[in-house]
Amino acid sequence: MLTLDGIEVRYGQAIAVGGVSLQVEAGRWIVLIGANGAGKTSLLRAVVGLVKHRGRVVLNGDDISTLPPWHRQRHGFGYVPEGRQIFPQMTVEENLRIGGYTCDAAGLRRGLDTAFDLFPRLGERRSQLAATLSGGEQQMLALARALMTQPKLLLIDEISWGLMPILVTQVFEHLKALHAAGIAILQVEQNAHEALRHAQHAYVMSAGHLVLDGPAEEIARDPRVIESYVG
Ligand code: ATP
Repeated sequence: MLTLDGIEVRYGQAIAVGGVSLQVEAGRWIVLIGANGAGKTSLLRAVVGLVKHRGRVVLNGDDISTLPPWHRQRHGFGYVPEGRQIFPQMTVEENLRIGGYTCDAAGLRRGLDTAFDLFPRLGERRSQLAATLSGGEQQMLALARALMTQPKLLLIDEISWGLMPILVTQVFEHLKALHAAGIAILQVEQNAHEALRHAQHAYVMSAGHLVLDGPAEEIARDPRVIESYVG
């Protein structure tokens, strides 16, 4: 579904991602873990087209490497950015409509119905300003917004960031349901313990490179991973 081939991201002279290649097959749940500053967010932003990069991004057979983000998105992924990036002075429904800006009227209706079905609290608050939502609800909104175009692939950056443990559990339950419904997930996550419990395959990134990969349950047992990221 998604192939990354030699992705390199530089900020000035600094190399944040130093030639990363990986694949996400349809329906798979892949997690990317690593220390702060390892380059995980930069890699996802390269896939979405939000940073300049070298290397190829191929989605469903189409090379989208040279397209701007607003064209890449039409090739079929949803993106949950780090820090949620919702629009606080817009209502819940307006935020969702922005997520579905490429949809026709029927697609928008379907997207909104799905969002309110999956997240009833968002339905109850559809006319409220997003700024008035709790942190957990804002995270649900960011996820629901990414689902508006009914993507088959979700790119998710630090979805559990800043959430209390019970909400982290809830968020992962939602991801589990989406995955069970056939959506592939490429997830960057600081909460390695939780992510490795759910994902099928894991990559470990360090200083801009992938240094380890394997089935998530094996990676979770790796002493180097336990020492550095799970504790
Ligand atoms: P974190 O978990 O802290 O978000 P990360 O693994 O996602 O870390 P990145 O955010 O991709 O890592 O950062 C990789 C490196 O690139 C870091 O050294 C960071 O300081 C640097 N970096 C990130 N964004 C920029 C930017 N816009 N300009 C300059 N350097 C940047």
